[in-house]
Amino acid sequence: MREYKGVIHAHTLYSDGTGTVADLVRAAKAAGLTYLAITDHNAFHPEEAGWRDGVLVMMGEEVDDDEGKEVKGGHLLALGTREDVTHLRHDFQRLIDRINEVGGVSFLAHPLERNSKYMPDTYSWRDWSVRGYTGIELWNHLSEFRGYTTSIPKVLAIAFFPHWFTQGPWPEVLALWDRLMEEQGRPIVAIGGADAHAQVYGLGPIKRKFMPYELTFRSVTTHVLLDEALSGSDAASDERALLNALRSGHTWVGYERLGPTDGFRFWAVSGGREVIMGDSVAALPVALHVAVPDDGDVRILRNGQVVAQTFGRELSKEVEEPGVYRVEVWRRRWGRPRGWIFSNPIYVGR
Ligand SMILES: [Zn+2]
Ligand SMILES: [Zn+2]
Repeated sequence: MREYKGVIHAHTLYSDGTGTVADLVRAAKAAGLTYLAITDHNAFHPEEAGWRDGVLVMMGEEVDDDEGKEVKGGHLLALGTREDVTHLRHDFQRLIDRINEVGGVSFLAHPLERNSKYMPDTYSWRDWSVRGYTGIELWNHLSEFRGYTTSIPKVLAIAFFPHWFTQGPWPEVLALWDRLMEEQGRPIVAIGGADAHAQVYGLGPIKRKFMPYELTFRSVTTHVLLDEALSGSDAASDERALLNALRSGHTWVGYERLGPTDGFRFWAVSGGREVIMGDSVAALPVALHVAVPDDGDVRILRNGQVVAQTFGRELSKEVEEPGVYRVEVWRRRWGRPRGWIFSNPIYVGR
């Protein structure tokens, strides 16, 4: 299989980011990304899409019904729509249905956020009646910091040493993901979201550009596995291949600041047939296998509960029970365990 590293969820000057698409492409190239999914707020600019300096730029949108502070539905990431879907932002079910009709994918952005005295506004998902979305943003890199802004010294520390704070997806978002898959009885794909803005924040005389684009692109990524290599020239077909892999959950979320996650694999063998993360396998028993590029605390979870765990680079487990099996890898860094790799599940016995 071919593996590609990219970043989903970035803002440019078309909404509240601080760089042009060309600026983001430069940062993506420097960070070693193959693809970059730009998602400006209610703004669609397909003319910017394509292979640019070795980076496949996909132009999506972050559609929201945010009017003032009153968010009714939430923020929805839409990719591969080939049309502007902003006009449906007051009816999230119609919006999701339309994205599916035109062959796109959709993800609930920062589905649960924590707030603080200093950042009281949150943009959590609110309309939980909707169905049919592709998945959720399991880990929104920017949103996580919001929850840590509990005092002025912490706000300052976050501005200068953000990596001291980054720990992983909120436990309540991991639990939400497991619950949604159980309730809806279908695959729900997890992606990482950078939510890159590179905005300048001020606290009195102190001004600081928080998480510049290149640093953000070296942080929370989404790795994609494809059967065949991207062409590097035919942007339309390459984008389709990436979208298909995202839709299938052939992906994992990596936090590259703890070490490159390239080479991670989670696969299952059942009756001589091999499947990878995102796939389903019906016949029991199933042998699950995990390979990690470097040492970590490797866990296999079934329906959100740890069923196998080791410290190292490999873990295998034969399972007899149906369930949603996924992998988490944690590493100890800067004094505490931090999330490194979060795989999409293998659905066993469906
Ligand atoms: Zn948002
Ligand atoms: Zn955003």
